[in-house]
Amino acid sequence: MILPIIAYGDPVLRKKGNDVPKDYPKLEELIDNMWETMYNANGVGLAAPQIGLPVRLFLVDTTPFSKDEDLTEEEKKKLDGFKKVFINAYIEEETGKEWAFSEGCLSIPDIHEDVSRKDTVTITYVDEDFKKQTETYDGLLARVIQHEYDHIEGILFTDKLSSLKKRLLKGRLTNISKGNIRADYRMRFPKQKKGR
Ligand SMILES: [Zn+2]
Repeated sequence: MILPIIAYGDPVLRKKGNDVPKDYPKLEELIDNMWETMYNANGVGLAAPQIGLPVRLFLVDTTPFSKDEDLTEEEKKKLDGFKKVFINAYIEEETGKEWAFSEGCLSIPDIHEDVSRKDTVTITYVDEDFKKQTETYDGLLARVIQHEYDHIEGILFTDKLSSLKKRLLKGRLTNISKGNIRADYRMRFPKQKKGR
């Protein structure tokens, strides 16, 4: 089932996510619905707060990024088919040089801005069988994971922009929260007036 994606301005996007207990009701169904919602919106990642649940759950499929002609064959191979569910994730360490990449977000349609992040991330999480995993990623894989991880910490990529950039974007962000935009997927807008 495709779920509406929560737009910028909703307080749920600002909550620090709680851990997902092993007996979380209908977790499998929730994950299925999140995949469907993400693919329908052509995203490479989706976090539970974006569908209204403040819990530590996000999923990533970087396959669309593997089509980028500017990447090396090795990079393409890493991104192609990388599909993973991260439950109760905690970043252990971020290392390496910061680099800028133009990020976007399904909760913030039509806005893309360069965000600087460290190149390498080590993350601990449990998989769908609640088996503990610790893994290290770099490059674009790390980038997507860092962006989604921020969501379960209540952080959005626009928080990481300069104060000038934030000021310039303010009007557009307000319009998004009011629903004064066109997105080609289902969304829920926190400040939309009823009857529209
Ligand atoms: Zn996002």
